[in-house]
Amino acid sequence: MHHDPQTHPFHVIGVDIGGGKIALGAVSSAGEVTASQQYPTGPERPAEAVIDDLTARIRKMTEEVPFEVDGLGVGVCGQVVMSSGVVRQSPNLPNWDDVPLRQRLEAALGLPVTVANDMKVIALGQWQYSSERAVDDLVVVFVGTGVGGGVIANGQMLLGRDDHAGEVGHATIMVDGRECRCGNLGCLEAYVGGWAIAERAREAAEGDPREGAKLLALAGGNLENITAETVADANREDDDLARRIVEETGHYLGAGMVGVVNGFNPSRLILGGGVLDGIPELLESVEAHVQRYALRACTTDLEVILAEFGAEAGILGGAALAMQTLPNARSRSGELDA
Ligand SMILES: [Zn+2]
Repeated sequence: MHHDPQTHPFHVIGVDIGGGKIALGAVSSAGEVTASQQYPTGPERPAEAVIDDLTARIRKMTEEVPFEVDGLGVGVCGQVVMSSGVVRQSPNLPNWDDVPLRQRLEAALGLPVTVANDMKVIALGQWQYSSERAVDDLVVVFVGTGVGGGVIANGQMLLGRDDHAGEVGHATIMVDGRECRCGNLGCLEAYVGGWAIAERAREAAEGDPREGAKLLALAGGNLENITAETVADANREDDDLARRIVEETGHYLGAGMVGVVNGFNPSRLILGGGVLDGIPELLESVEAHVQRYALRACTTDLEVILAEFGAEAGILGGAALAMQTLPNARSRSGELDA
């Protein structure tokens, strides 16, 4: 870090723009969230409307907190070029194409803004604020509707040529396998993403209606209403089919994480997201799988753990991003003002 939080406390706002909801919160250098809110994104709206709405909420928050806000860090569920702060595209924000988010926010708020992919931001937050901060190599993988990853390597966000490194959800785990939303076949996401678990469950329930009776009942008798959450619920009630789907999901996710552990050699593999929240035993499957199949050299001292901070993970990540880049951003915003 470039500053000493004891003598120069920063206050920033962290923002997490997801396809379903947007979370924002004011955070101190010590990692204390002093104000926060969450609201539906409304992804069908034009990007402009989403940004105007967000800007108004940020402005209100900066007025209400009892300190001056120094900057803003934003995670977006999509492909972001960090140097320009442009959101190239987002599968979950269909109206966002080459949106100059940083420029828009800086112009509207007069604050230095840093924008990055949401998983990179979350990884940074887990590293910065985790109770086990003493490691410099970690990989964070969130399994929600999709599967995303962020890598901290040697104490730095791993970015890649155009800042898109870490998309571990689209590693092939099955050659010529299930169709993925990215256009490829056999991606990890096409097996363990929430949408893929739902798809697999629907196929299984359709193929054997007797075995699928529980899932179907929980979905109100309509096959199309079976979701990953339905599977999680049925699994909690010891339904055989749901348990089998969960077991297979653990197998697939484990296989994917073997590649991640071998590829990045982290000290911590941190798992989170809605699917892990609903089916926490996936953590154990992954751990067992990784310990058994990853290279022994890569699993020495490896810990597989759950992500911290729940709904505030994105806010804290955004704050960590803002604080990391504030000294640079300050001189940049000085240039903008001139
Ligand atoms: Zn894919």
